[in-house]
Amino acid sequence: MKILQLRNILLGCVLGGFLSLLATPLSYASDEAVYKEAKSLIKKGLASDVGFEIVESLTTEIGPRLAGSEAEARARSWGEGKFRELGFSNIRTEPFLVKHWERKFEQAQIISPYPQNLVITALGGSISTPPDGVTGEVVSFPTLQDLKDAPVKGLEGKIVFVDEYMTRTQGGSGYGIAVRKRSGAANEAGKRGAIAALIRSVGTDHHRFAHTGQMTYEDDVTKVPVAALSAPDADQLQRALLKGTVEVNVVLDVISQGEAISGNVIAEIPGETDEIVLIGGHLDSWDLGTGAIDDGAGIGITVGAAKLILDLNKTPRRTIRIVMFGSEEVGLIGAKAYAKKYRDRLDKHIVGAESDFGAGRIWKFDTNFAQEKLFLAESMHKVLEPLGIGRGDNNASGGPDIGPLRELGVPAVTLKQNGWDYFDYHHTADDTLDKIDKSDIAQNVAAYAAFVWMAANLNGHFRKD
Ligand SMILES: [Zn+2]
Repeated sequence: MKILQLRNILLGCVLGGFLSLLATPLSYASDEAVYKEAKSLIKKGLASDVGFEIVESLTTEIGPRLAGSEAEARARSWGEGKFRELGFSNIRTEPFLVKHWERKFEQAQIISPYPQNLVITALGGSISTPPDGVTGEVVSFPTLQDLKDAPVKGLEGKIVFVDEYMTRTQGGSGYGIAVRKRSGAANEAGKRGAIAALIRSVGTDHHRFAHTGQMTYEDDVTKVPVAALSAPDADQLQRALLKGTVEVNVVLDVISQGEAISGNVIAEIPGETDEIVLIGGHLDSWDLGTGAIDDGAGIGITVGAAKLILDLNKTPRRTIRIVMFGSEEVGLIGAKAYAKKYRDRLDKHIVGAESDFGAGRIWKFDTNFAQEKLFLAESMHKVLEPLGIGRGDNNASGGPDIGPLRELGVPAVTLKQNGWDYFDYHHTADDTLDKIDKSDIAQNVAAYAAFVWMAANLNGHFRKD
């Protein structure tokens, strides 16, 4: 080999090395540097009100935002505007259609023997009663299972009352059991000839607020109107029934026809690769309260966390995508639309996490990673631990709107919040901003910012190789 050739090769190597060094992005720094930055984000998050301010803005400037409503459309404009104001990129709304349903009027009364009003609310999806309502004798069942065990037919002309209680737990596991009566009561009542169904609210409070929520009629059952009683009104009806026959009149007037426009509002912090870390909450709420804990909080927490990252002014390795899902409450319609639209790119989604369980402090870091990648969960957890967050299990749901993605193989994380009092307010007129504690939501923002920074920059994936 000639000296000149050798010199050229050496020069090429040095130059190439130098050039590749120049091209090495900042975020490809060591994992140690990533953890260090995550820790600094925790400090910033705990000192910031950004999460609370976003929920305040949404719940004050928009208020209730029922799926498919004009208010939800205003919330989408608010979402785009907020993303713009905070400095995010690639802001857009991806529309889809939902069934139109709207509450107009609801009323219930004991007619005899003790005439008085009862506090109720129609369940989402319920049909109307005739204008004068339906009047009938109430037949009570302690649980949905008791109603299911009742003979088919035999409740003709009656109003079915499912008086099942919900258990209060920190993790919300009581909900999964209690919520079955929301669709089950009307469907089982319809199969047995009843004219309406009432349920004890799916909730853990003893305030005089009824809890709404979506119900779905099974195919081929006679549709009967269905409403929830507040807990004290369910107690009242129960006491009256212990004294003898009780007749109740229920009037529900709802609009339920055709389709309406809904949509997902999306923004990004572009990364150096086309891989995506997806976080978000749902933008729609029930119509009774202002949707502060469900799910204004999730919007505030995830957008606030992303804002802290944006303010670092450092390009992450992966793109951070924030999604304000539309129409979650009426059947995860936005989540399904997202999964469908991005089905060919889901392998690029390295993890998904939704905040949709109020604004209580995060106490557990649950993952849904490949077994061989659990070491990454362990080291991420070490960073989150000083926030009072324990290492949870590897069965994370990722939140309702992540469900359709998780089912298609996207790894998920749940930063599990304390939901001890969540179901006191959930889906009621009492879901308002005063239920959110500023320091609690700041802890959430801090945890999300740290988690998202780590997920967006660490070496390695959470899937099976
Ligand atoms: Zn929710």
